[in-house]
Formats: sequence, C-alpha cells, structure tokens
Amino acid sequence: MSTANGYVSNGEKRLKLTDVDEETLNSGAEGYTATQVFVKNPACVAYTYDDTIVMPGHISFSLGDVDISTKLTRNIELQVPFVSSPMDTVTEHKMAITMALQGGIGIIHSNMKAEDQATEVRRVKKFKNGFILDPVCLSPESTLEEVYRTKQSLGFSSFPVTDNGKMGGRLVGIISNRDTSFIEDPSVKVKEFMTSRDRLACAKDGVSLEEANKMLKESKKGKLPVVNEKDELVALIARTDLQKNRDNPRASKDSVNKQLLCGASIGTRPDDKIRAKLLVDAGVDVIVVDSSQGDSTYQIEMVQHLKSTHPEVDVIGGNVVTPSQAHHLIEAGVDGLRVGMGIGSICTTQEVCAVGRAQASAVYHVSKYARKFGIPIVADGGIKSTGHITKALCLGAGCVMMGSMLAGTDEAPGEYFYQDGVRLKRYRGMGSIEAMNQGGEKRYVWDTAKTAVKVAQGVSGAVTDKGTLQRYIPYLMQGVRHGLQDAGVKSLDDAREKLYSNRLRFEIRSPAAQKEGGVHGLHSYQKRLY
Ligand code: GDP
Ligand code: 5GP
Repeated sequence: MSTANGYVSNGEKRLKLTDVDEETLNSGAEGYTATQVFVKNPACVAYTYDDTIVMPGHISFSLGDVDISTKLTRNIELQVPFVSSPMDTVTEHKMAITMALQGGIGIIHSNMKAEDQATEVRRVKKFKNGFILDPVCLSPESTLEEVYRTKQSLGFSSFPVTDNGKMGGRLVGIISNRDTSFIEDPSVKVKEFMTSRDRLACAKDGVSLEEANKMLKESKKGKLPVVNEKDELVALIARTDLQKNRDNPRASKDSVNKQLLCGASIGTRPDDKIRAKLLVDAGVDVIVVDSSQGDSTYQIEMVQHLKSTHPEVDVIGGNVVTPSQAHHLIEAGVDGLRVGMGIGSICTTQEVCAVGRAQASAVYHVSKYARKFGIPIVADGGIKSTGHITKALCLGAGCVMMGSMLAGTDEAPGEYFYQDGVRLKRYRGMGSIEAMNQGGEKRYVWDTAKTAVKVAQGVSGAVTDKGTLQRYIPYLMQGVRHGLQDAGVKSLDDAREKLYSNRLRFEIRSPAAQKEGGVHGLHSYQKRLY
C-alpha cells in the first residue's frame, strides 16, 4: 500500500483519495442520517439517548478550539449550554449564581411564595463576585456567648459590628477569632473586645474586586469591610475568597448592567401573572412557563400575556415533544422551547399517564421544526452523562436542562445526610406527593379544587454527593468538548450545519451494543469521573 499525489495504490489499482464515494456513503457503512434514523422509520420506534450513537468524524482542530457557546432563547446567548432545572431540590440563588458564573444559567423554582422567589432572583442579580453582600453582623451590645453560638451555627468566626447589629447599620468595629481567644467570661459585651472602627482598613462603596484584593493584601487582614459615604456597611470581603473569586471570563451577564443572568419559572394560573411582575421587577432575564404538557390554552394565554406586558423579558414555553405542540407556543410568541415529557430521572408521567416521548426523538423533531422560526430549544431531562449532553446537542438542541446531574452538589438546596455510610442530598420530582404538598402541584394538577385527588407524576429520593459545581461544571464542559471533537464538530453551529446536511451520522445500538458500550467483563472497578 502506498500513497502519492492524492492517490492510494493497493498494488493492483490506483484509487483517488477523495471523500468517501457516494456508494459507500449511502450503503450504511458510514452510519445513517438523522432523517433515516428518525423520519424514515418503518418500525415507528422512538429513540432515547442510550439507543443512539454518533459516528466519529474527522478531527482537524484541537480540543481547546471546540466552541460550545450557544443560544438559550432568541435573545440570550450563553458560553456554556447548561441550564439548571426549576426544581426545589436543584435551583435557588446559590445554584443560579454558580451556573451563571460558569457560563450557563439557573432557573429559580416557583415552589415558594412569589415574594421569596423574587428575593432569590434579586440575590442573583445583585451578586458581586467576591463580595459578601449580606454578612452576618453583631451589635456592640451582643455578648461573647452569642458570638460563640453564632460561630458554631454558621461555621465562620468573623463578624462586622454595626450600631444596630444589622447589615446596613453604621460600622463600629469587627470581631474575629483573635479578639475572642483570651476572654473567658461569656457575658462580656462585644464592644469591650472588638477591633474598633478607627483601627480598621475599609474600602469605599464602588470599589472593584481587583482594588479590594490589593487592599486586603496590603493590610494583611482577613476581612475588608466595604462602607458607603455615611460609613454604613454595604459588603464584606474575605481573604479566604481571594483564590476562589478570580474573574470568571465565561460568566453569563446581561449587556446593560453586567449583572449575572437569571431565570425563574412560573405556572399558568391567574396569580402567576402577579408572580411574573414581581420577578420582572427583581430583574429576571428569562421566564420559563412550567407545565409538564405545555400545549394548552392556559399556557398560550400566559405566553401572550407575558410577551405583551413584559416584552423585554424572554419567555421559554413548554414542555413539548412534537412539532404541533411547538407550533402553538411559537405562534403564541415564545422565545425558546423546553423539550421533554416523562423522561426525567424522578418522573413517572409515562407510567401514570401513558403520554410522552423518548427524548432523542423528541429533541430531534422539535429542534428541526423550531429552527425554521429561529427558536432554540432546551433538551430538558434524562441527561445522565456528558455523552447524553453531546447527543442532545448533535440532535439540534441549543442547551440541556439538568436536574439529577446537578442535585447533590454543594450549590443545590438542602443539607447533606448519610445513609449506609454514603453522603447524599435529597432530590425529588416537582410532581411527587412531597413537592405537591408544598405547593409544587401547579405543573401537574389542573384541578384547583381542594378536594381533588393529587396523582403523583414523580418520586422523591436522594442522589450522591458530587462536591462543588466549580469543579463539576468544568468537567461536564470538557467531556462535551471531547465528544464534539470526536464527532468532527467544532461548534454547536457546526453540529447543526452537519446534522441538517446529512454529514453528521448516527446509528441505533442494539441492547447488546449498549452493553458493549458500557464497562463490562470486570470483576470489580472504581468509576472516577475526573
Ligand atoms: P472566618 O475568618 O472564620 O470568618 O472565616 P473565613 O474567612 O476563613 O471563611 C468564611 C467563609 O464564609 C468565606 O468563604 C466567606 O465568603 C463565607 N461567608 C459567607 N457569609 C459570610 C458572613 O456573613 N460572614 C463571614 N465572615 N463569612 C461569610
Ligand atoms: P432529570 O435531569 O433529573 O432527568 O430531569 C429533570 C426534569 O424532569 C426537570 O427539568 C423537569 O422537566 C422534569 N421533572 C421534574 N419533576 C418532575 C416530576 O415530578 N414528574 C415529571 N414527569 N417530570 C419532572
């Protein structure tokens, strides 16, 4: 075998080295087009992520060159195609802040009072990287005993002291471990042992993180209070956070105020219009209208209301799994669509209601249809690995929305607990009886009568500890880059271009092939993700 001048010789004949010839391409040897797999589908089968596999492509670029930036909605761009689900065990302000810092976005759940949800949004919008905006304060009249109690319950030991004991009060001093270590009488008052205001280095309101960091380094102190012109406390900066709070170049920010992007979900009941108004006042960037079956007159009416009352805020409608459902919501004015029905990890909809669709098929069909109208889609639920994310993106999704993948991280609501020696966090479906009893039934129950029987469409469970998102999200991003690179795809636009021009190829895996594609044949093994 030899190659020269664009020809390859096998000893007998010279073959031209061009791309694979038509005959080979059409024979199935290179896998099948998405149309062949999902449309010309004589067996009428719908496919899941696990059923499908993406054929490798040609790699002519490095991993670092794979661009995963995307569109969440008509008007919102993200550097990273990850969205955290509006569930009460997944997204509150901590999750939404970290998702946005990492280049994705979090959607704050609505299983709480509208005012509380608006406060959660405000916390994300007001977040300033490295600044503690609501530090716990003490009053000069507090006692050492109170200091110890607060220290024990919160885990940190430095507290600014303000004249009224509250954030926003006039700064009169600060206490840290060094101030309390030699005092024995628990009734001694804070004013007796605090480091007083005149001995404190403080920054002025408006200081940049960079300047504040410089001041902390120079003063060699552990904390830097930030005060306004009336000497009232507006923030606190901790030396321990310096390392953590380097700039996040990918952070999702709005172009006007440079604040982190934040989404929130609402239902389709009349009082959700009031909720939406509070969310908009709090600065929400995108509202997700949250129904498990989104093709309803209730949702259409809500989308029309939102678009006419708050045109500056993008609206994601859903959930849908067919082009006709998508059509109704696109007609109503949505800026994005959420795709997935009955396929979430905690979900029993397909079992209870017999309605839904396998997710790979749903993502392919709805993306292809919505694309004609410039509407991006979010593939919602059923993601169990970076491979699933890559498949969703290769089938036309703009972003993926995750619940179970992100539950169990430090940033998800709730405390860790141990069961049989394993560290866990709770994770539950919003249609589980437990979540519905707390008000989460809006997504699943149309009948508002108090006597109506609640039929669960989800379960309540637990997921293992995944540590912090600060490490987990970069792992997910890198896994997706590897997948796209192997498929010969350089960006998400490139993925769609190749998908719709039949150059991205797929195959359906038999059950044995799926087994072969996982770890097999070992007596035991350890699975470390990164
Ligand atoms: P301390 O010196 O014992 O207060 O603790 P460190 O500065 O070593 O760590 C405190 C951590 O808790 C930092 O990451 C802070 O950002 C975080 N933190 C969150 N809220 C507060 C707060 O209200 N006060 C203080 N002191 N730290 C807070
Ligand atoms: P996961 O990422 O855990 O597989 O799925 C999360 C998604 O499942 C959510 O974004 C939401 O669309 C859906 N979901 C959340 N709670 C429930 C539930 O109780 N029942 C059903 N059918 N779907 C749910």
